[in-house]
Amino acid sequence: MAVLKFQQARETVIAQVRAQVGADRRTLPTETVALTGSLDRVLAEPVHADRDFPPFPRSTRDGFAVRSADCAALPARVRRIGEARAGEAFDGTVGAMECVEIMTGASVPTGADAVVMVEYTAERDGWVELSRAAAPGLNVVPQGSESRRGDLLLSAGRRIGYAETAMLAAVGKETVSVYRMPRAAILPTGDEVVEIGVAPGPYQIRNSNSYSLQAQVARAKAHPLPIGIAPDREDRLREMIVEGLQADLLLLSGGVSMGKFDLVEKVLAELGAEFFFDGVAIQPGKPLVFGRAKGTFFFGLPGNPLSTMVTFELFARPALALLSGEPEAPLVFLRARLAEDLRRRPGLTAFLPALLRAGLEVGSDPVGAPPVVSLVDWKGSGDVAALNRANCYLVVPEDAAELRAGDWVAVLPR
Ligand code: AMP
Ligand code: MG
Repeated sequence: MAVLKFQQARETVIAQVRAQVGADRRTLPTETVALTGSLDRVLAEPVHADRDFPPFPRSTRDGFAVRSADCAALPARVRRIGEARAGEAFDGTVGAMECVEIMTGASVPTGADAVVMVEYTAERDGWVELSRAAAPGLNVVPQGSESRRGDLLLSAGRRIGYAETAMLAAVGKETVSVYRMPRAAILPTGDEVVEIGVAPGPYQIRNSNSYSLQAQVARAKAHPLPIGIAPDREDRLREMIVEGLQADLLLLSGGVSMGKFDLVEKVLAELGAEFFFDGVAIQPGKPLVFGRAKGTFFFGLPGNPLSTMVTFELFARPALALLSGEPEAPLVFLRARLAEDLRRRPGLTAFLPALLRAGLEVGSDPVGAPPVVSLVDWKGSGDVAALNRANCYLVVPEDAAELRAGDWVAVLPR
């Protein structure tokens, strides 16, 4: 069927999932959660300023609120007429040659337009001597200068991190509306695959894919839903696929190559699936399948553990981001200098296990020194140990036959 190039395949996934979710994400279910339980969730409502920020002209220093014009000639002597503490207001007006002692976070009284830091003042018998000039606005944040009441502060679709938590708290949101976390069913297939709690027979393989996928789904802030291991037998495979299609996304592993017992596509086709592609020109992970059945998107991830992990990151993760209510699903690459020459047959975009190190050069500025990346020796897409000696994937462009030591290359952290 259709083998797409890397970029085309990613665009297909994003376009299909976006189209189903809808431009305004109205199809995604929402729920209300406590702010304290909302970390990493995605906002389903826009958040507006409920008051001006700051709500009053705020002093950013401890010192004396003055009329800046009064300290044109130094030293200036002004009369202390009162005190403005944080949380209260001085109810009076600062007149000519007058000042109000003020604390950080307090409201600057009317009449005053600047705050002279306490360090530049000396107070005696109700008079304050100022040894620094103050331009209008010094140490004062004007009311509403950060945001005006009614301003949009956070849009729906924003993932809640600590800065968003501060914003939500600042507008008094004890509870927030967020999108429900998508559930990703995980269905490894293969007659040789056994659960990790049982001793494998001599030709059996422990089910590592289910566990790496659970970790990746959890990292993507979705619910992993492992539903057991499907044998390479159509009837049982069909039952388990139907079960998996109840979730918001189905992640299959294995059974998508050209072997006699690679039955995943056949069974999905019999269930009426539409397929958007069943191969991508990447290494590892070429036999990747993406489609939709009974209204649920599925990925048939190739069974080799590195293929499973890489294709999840490149394709399933963005799908989960969109199903979580995020508007975008970008892949963020780093840039590094290649440590050694690299030669290979072009044709596939490669994601090769590699080690990224800080590029500390003797005598150079460590902030400016580019990181260096080198390939890890690996024995192909079954080599989980190699991936554990790596901390990233080196990205080799589809048409590159040769890369040279010192070349700038793209790196995808893992
Ligand atoms: P397949 O894609 O089914 O042809 O499988 C490719 C390779 O991945 C085979 O060597 C399988 O034994 C291995 N494999 C398949 N599923 C898993 C799994 N769940 N955990 C670990 N290895 C697997
Ligand atoms: Mg198999």
